[in-house]
Amino acid sequence: MEKRHSSGLRPRPTLGLGGVARDAEPAQHPALPPVQAPAARPSVMQAPVLVLNATFEPINVTAVRRALVLMLKGVAQAEETNHTEVHSTSKAVQVPSVIRLLSYRHIPQQSRALSRKNILLRDRNTCQFCGEALPASELTLDHVMPRSRGGRSSWENLVASCYSCNNRKGDRTPEEAGLKLRRRPRPFTLHTSRQLMRLIGHRDEKWRKYLFY
Ligand SMILES: [Zn+2]
Repeated sequence: MEKRHSSGLRPRPTLGLGGVARDAEPAQHPALPPVQAPAARPSVMQAPVLVLNATFEPINVTAVRRALVLMLKGVAQAEETNHTEVHSTSKAVQVPSVIRLLSYRHIPQQSRALSRKNILLRDRNTCQFCGEALPASELTLDHVMPRSRGGRSSWENLVASCYSCNNRKGDRTPEEAGLKLRRRPRPFTLHTSRQLMRLIGHRDEKWRKYLFY
């Protein structure tokens, strides 16, 4: 389980597009001082945690480390734990599997930053031309309408592509290169996020009641 998620949690280079890439987690309150999460094995600290709004609506997926920080700050509480404990200097804390924010947070419709990581997430690490699922390191971003011909760096014009398809396409449109897009690229919406939360959480029984309704 930890292995399955580790590749998605490493920091990745992002596109220099002006928009700051954010992780899949709620924004920190700027006035709050930083809180140290307890020490534990890195794999435990990187396991995915489902984040619910105060209304129990699933809004995000974050890592255990970040979830513990939100709990220690009093911003969130654990709704489900996974029977593992981590120890800080003074106390043991159950590792959360699902947390809930204590005050309601408005989630804007378009809350995802345009970044390499988020585009690969949207496209499920799958080349949008040949359909092969690959590790992130073997995928690049392709401008559907090439930059040299005015194509923009946008959700609608960037797709995950393997290097082979990307080379084959070159400075051409998919039609000109004899390639076909699997799906029309769309912005990352809450709907997309929820699909991904289900994908990430389909093996975690404790996520089910919050995600499959
Ligand atoms: Zn390909």
